[in-house]
Amino acid sequence: MIAMMNCTKCKTKAVLKLPRHNAAFCKECFNNFTHDQVGRAIRSEDMFRKDDRILVAVSGGKDSLALWDILLTLGYKADALYVNLGIAGYSDRSHENVRRYAETIASPRGATLHTHTVEQDAGAGIKELSLMVHRPTCSTCGMIKRYQFNRIAIEQDYDVMATGHNLDDEAARLLGNVLHWQDDYLAKQSPNLPASLEGFTKKVKPLYRLTERELAAYCVLNRIDYIVDECPMAQGARTLLYKEVLNRLETESPGTKQYFYWGFLEKQSQQASAGASMTEKDQARLHPCPTCGQPTTADICSYCKLIARAKTSIIR
Ligand code: SF4
Ligand SMILES: [Zn+2]
Ligand SMILES: [Zn+2]
Repeated sequence: MIAMMNCTKCKTKAVLKLPRHNAAFCKECFNNFTHDQVGRAIRSEDMFRKDDRILVAVSGGKDSLALWDILLTLGYKADALYVNLGIAGYSDRSHENVRRYAETIASPRGATLHTHTVEQDAGAGIKELSLMVHRPTCSTCGMIKRYQFNRIAIEQDYDVMATGHNLDDEAARLLGNVLHWQDDYLAKQSPNLPASLEGFTKKVKPLYRLTERELAAYCVLNRIDYIVDECPMAQGARTLLYKEVLNRLETESPGTKQYFYWGFLEKQSQQASAGASMTEKDQARLHPCPTCGQPTTADICSYCKLIARAKTSIIR
């Protein structure tokens, strides 16, 4: 937030300076700017239309709540799903933020909040569950979230799933993929992953044109209460280091993050089938999981395997 500066658009007092756009905005013009950036992302990547049903993945953090708010404000039909991971101290607070937003803002606008509780299905919270199945917490968490979001989207007939990944997230991920030359991941890194296969929902990231700082400002200015703390499991994650490095570059040279990530997207769009998420070989091997019916290339899908291992571990 800044003092003594005027809005680039309307010349009233500005509340936020955006060096990467060489601009400063008052609250109203800043809201218009964020809505415009999201609208441009939706149109340029052909994410969804006004009559599509959207399922937003909400965590209680600034990005996902801002995304839900922006989509509802722009007149989209957006419901949300919250996955309660059962992390002591953190999950209760993040759940409360989501519930409060849903009750006070989303529900009066006709939107629904779905909730999935990991403990109910797996018999343990995410930390204990990961120990039981000898898998890193974040990888178990990622798999469960992907599975549950896809399941609800398919069962409840949503056209598309939207996540709150922002410019910082995508630029950090790109940096990690480039540093390790992860060709497979680079080919799949896109703000629009089409529903290339039967049983998988299309996934989009409408916030890829906005930074973390801009989304935090959006929530503060619009009185959206979000959980400020990162998930305690994120401590020391590589992504945080990449974000720090990119922030240093951004301070020295505003616009670096967007040139890096948007430039990558431009180059990618010049190549055919930029969004293809699976190879033809994977498509041919895909069949419904005999236990739960969701698509998988293995005998039994990884989620059902995880639940089975967790149950054996509890019995022992
Ligand atoms: S930090 Fe790890 S455990 Fe926490 S929400 Fe992210 S992926 Fe899940
Ligand atoms: Zn203004
Ligand atoms: Zn299954």
